[in-house]
Amino acid sequence: MSAKLNVVVAGAGIGGLAAAALLSTAGHRVVLFDRFGAPAPVGSGLMLQDTGLAVLGAMGLRDRLTDLGSPIRRLHGRTVPKLRTVLDVRFSALRPDLHAVGIQRTALFDALLGAALAAGADLQTSTEIARVDAKTGTLEDNRGRQFGPFDLLIDGLGANSPLSRKSHRPLPYGALWITLDWPELGPFDAGALEQRYRAARKMAGVMASGSAIEGQTRKATYFWSIKGDGFEAWRSTPLDAWKEEAIALWPETSDLINAVEDHDAFSFARYRHRTHDKPVQGRLIHIGDSWHAASPQLGQGANMALLDAYALFLAVSSGSLETTPQRYLQYRRSHVRLYQLMSFLFTPVYQSDGAVLPFLRDWLAAPVSRAPPAPALLAAMVSGAVGRPLKKLGLA
Ligand SMILES: Cc1cc2nc3c(=O)[nH]c(=O)nc-3n(C[C@H](O)[C@H](O)[C@H](O)COP(=O)(O)OP(=O)(O)OC[C@H]3O[C@@H](n4cnc5c(N)ncnc54)[C@H](O)[C@@H]3O)c2cc1C
Repeated sequence: MSAKLNVVVAGAGIGGLAAAALLSTAGHRVVLFDRFGAPAPVGSGLMLQDTGLAVLGAMGLRDRLTDLGSPIRRLHGRTVPKLRTVLDVRFSALRPDLHAVGIQRTALFDALLGAALAAGADLQTSTEIARVDAKTGTLEDNRGRQFGPFDLLIDGLGANSPLSRKSHRPLPYGALWITLDWPELGPFDAGALEQRYRAARKMAGVMASGSAIEGQTRKATYFWSIKGDGFEAWRSTPLDAWKEEAIALWPETSDLINAVEDHDAFSFARYRHRTHDKPVQGRLIHIGDSWHAASPQLGQGANMALLDAYALFLAVSSGSLETTPQRYLQYRRSHVRLYQLMSFLFTPVYQSDGAVLPFLRDWLAAPVSRAPPAPALLAAMVSGAVGRPLKKLGLA
């Protein structure tokens, strides 16, 4: 497309910043709105998969982020108290060199924000978007201010986007997340995301997530699952009571946990699962969690948001404004459906109150998952490769 478009991106999160960077670089005029007063990400670390890394590669950000992050080659989960391995995904089962990268959310955010601003995107902070009129191409914020009209409106407002319509009912579980210093002397495997489960009711995880900026000491991301409505109760209980419970679940985490000073050091995330039934509506296009929110159990959300942003950029670049929505859907719809389904099926196996699914996980699924071709299929699933999304985008 040679015409330069007026584009608005609502939400300067992972998907919104990537879309703003890509479209600004292609010469479009991009305005980016976010409600935050100063640009900042929320949360701790996350896993960049082969899919997200490929998009970052196309944006020229991959090497920098790989250097800051920490290579993750295995997902390894064991039950308590028997220490049975019930999750063992090795990326090399699919491709010898395949791995994910554990990264500080700040490192990813800063890289994307820098790319968007350097390409000329105009970031407007303290603007809470409330409504859209897709026919006229305008947005309105919570103070009644109108913006537009724009040729293209991109909804990157995340899991609670007021611009996407489906139910916002949260999943029963969420988690507390914290960034701590990585214990260089052990006992954790820096190349693995390690987890411990008691049935599917309690879950803790540790992952090396590199440095937010060059030269900073390496960090660990630690998470602890709690019921979605249990946050206030947890917060009003002395921290030492939680520390005792967490160390009882996983004694090797005691040094990490004893370094935590107060409840406020944690971020709490309540998970949601929903797929917006209309990812494109006229000139409004939903990307990332505003289209497909899921629990982070499969570690795909940030990667899917990056894939959406790249698909949208390709759709805009390779056709007319009229064909952009359909092209975007052709690139992304089947992959999104597949991963939403897999996430829906897998989440209760690792986070739910029931006893049946964890029992089947421990005694049936775990042994089956070790027999070929299951290891390669699991590696494909976790790396985001099922449905070949990179091939569709010309990034494979
Ligand atoms: C605890 C946790 C761990 C996770 N771990 C992983 C992982 O390991 N790997 C992975 O790939 N994914 C992971 N995810 C998922 C991933 O973080 C999300 O899928 C991803 O951030 C979605 O990107 P997005 O751009 O759609 O939305 P977000 O990154 O959520 O960005 C939304 C932006 O919109 C802004 N905003 C929201 N509402 C408004 C409004 N009304 N007006 C203006 N601005 C607004 C917000 O301030 C924010 O900047 C995890 C998620 C959580 C919660």
